[in-house]
Amino acid sequence: AFSNIYQLPPDPLFGVASRCKADKRTNKVDLVLGAYRDNNGKPWILPSVKSAEESIKSDPTYNHEYLPIEGFKSLNLNAAKIALGEDSIVFDQNRIVSIQSLSGTGALHLSAKFLSQFYTGNVNNASKDLVISNNNRATVYVSKPTWANHIQIFESSGFNVDFYRYWDPSNKSLDFQNYLNDINNAPNGSIFVLHSCAHNPTGLDPSPEQWLEILNHINSKNHFVIFDTAYQGFASGDLERDAWALRKGIEILNTPIIICQSFAKNTGMYGERVGVVHLILSESEKDNEFLKNSIASQFKKITRSELSNPPAYGAKIVSKILSTPKLLDQWHDDLITMSSRITEMRLKLRIYLEKLNTPGTWNHITDQIGMFSFTGLNPKQVERLASEHGVYLISSGRISIAGLNDSNVEYVAQSIDETVKY
Ligand code: PMP
Repeated sequence: AFSNIYQLPPDPLFGVASRCKADKRTNKVDLVLGAYRDNNGKPWILPSVKSAEESIKSDPTYNHEYLPIEGFKSLNLNAAKIALGEDSIVFDQNRIVSIQSLSGTGALHLSAKFLSQFYTGNVNNASKDLVISNNNRATVYVSKPTWANHIQIFESSGFNVDFYRYWDPSNKSLDFQNYLNDINNAPNGSIFVLHSCAHNPTGLDPSPEQWLEILNHINSKNHFVIFDTAYQGFASGDLERDAWALRKGIEILNTPIIICQSFAKNTGMYGERVGVVHLILSESEKDNEFLKNSIASQFKKITRSELSNPPAYGAKIVSKILSTPKLLDQWHDDLITMSSRITEMRLKLRIYLEKLNTPGTWNHITDQIGMFSFTGLNPKQVERLASEHGVYLISSGRISIAGLNDSNVEYVAQSIDETVKY
């Protein structure tokens, strides 16, 4: 009955994490996991989340009923305002369809499934040029490298996945010209997945000038953009700044856009699975109620068959924060607490490495942003860090900055130094 089944290797990330867990050394350091830790290495419940929880539970009407298929409406609306900005023209022009998803992963999956059924290339002059691959779908382009799950999410919905160049290992910087070349060489109307801020795994974001060029090139090719927004506010501590590229995209692109929004990192509620998908229609489709209703109904059909309805608890908490001015202020402070600790750890790691005269340049650690840093360490060095020093990272050389704290950052720098030097 299961003749085609075979055992897959363990997820590389979780493999390293379990090796770290089994390590008995007391000074071991976990730089694998993509979850925020405080300066004592402990998970942190945001004060804004705590207050919102208390307020929800003390409400006499509190219950655990099902949400509607499209999710918690006030979450969907307020989440859109956070991503697009309260005064976005998209609201006036009635161009947005939003549906709650199972965090960012579920948002990407829902988008992939929707596009696999309905995307035929962007209209205008592009559709006739779209090269439909042999499985009858546009190719999805993801950055090289990207969050590994992107690839399997789109492949499992039947898409061919290809790469646009992103990271230049020799300069530890953006492979900008090749990025633009790959945009230009992709068939018109292809699908591009962009990380709107705090690129995972490199931590390297394009500069505003580079973003403008990227978006203009994408626009001239009529590519369809999915903005993966998993770190808004967590990256810089400033929700507006972290949404800059996405909002520019809405301004510049003449095509519809999908935003896959996760609240895992920026609220620290990783396990509650709070996310929203927003489909923004192009300006030429403003007030097209028929199209909007059609999209919403198809989103709902997918959700109904897969989740029935999305999880309620985290959605109520995030919605409470976003709709209560006092809690919103507290959340802004919480975002600054997290992002400034990350920034401080980046700086300390760089300073220690430079003090030790560790071979190579280390400015990229502070130039990068967000949870992760591509260190430039090779797989052999990564293995030695684990076996000789008990410092665990994934073989690509990506470290989770959240795993650093005042008690281990110097030790990590010394371990890297010894590994690179000897
Ligand atoms: N996109 C990117 C780039 C991510 O790094 C993550 C989290 N690792 C996600 C999406 C989705 O995370 P979640 O499903 O937990 O919201």
